[in-house]
Amino acid sequence: MAKWHGQAGRKWRALCQQVYTEETHCYWCGQYVDQTLPPTHRMSRTADHKHEVHEGGHPLDRDNVTLMHRACNSAKSNKIRARRRAIDRGAVIMVDPSTI
Ligand SMILES: [Zn+2]
Repeated sequence: MAKWHGQAGRKWRALCQQVYTEETHCYWCGQYVDQTLPPTHRMSRTADHKHEVHEGGHPLDRDNVTLMHRACNSAKSNKIRARRRAIDRGAVIMVDPSTI
């Protein structure tokens, strides 16, 4: 597997440009993304992984990178962090087979 250099690499930036050209709607909320908004705007465009890299997603696979609002991207990150914290605490959801 190719070495992952984080989201600063030339390949990553090229992939983002491809996403911006090919996609028009947010993967997270399904709403249209206004790509003319300034990067500081909360509803501006970002590109991110559908399947997190640290969870086994491919960092530079076009199919794993998608368009999102900046606000939706941070909502997604917060949700993932919360889930990871829950796992760290040992809060694994157990299903009692006798209740099924
Ligand atoms: Zn969105």
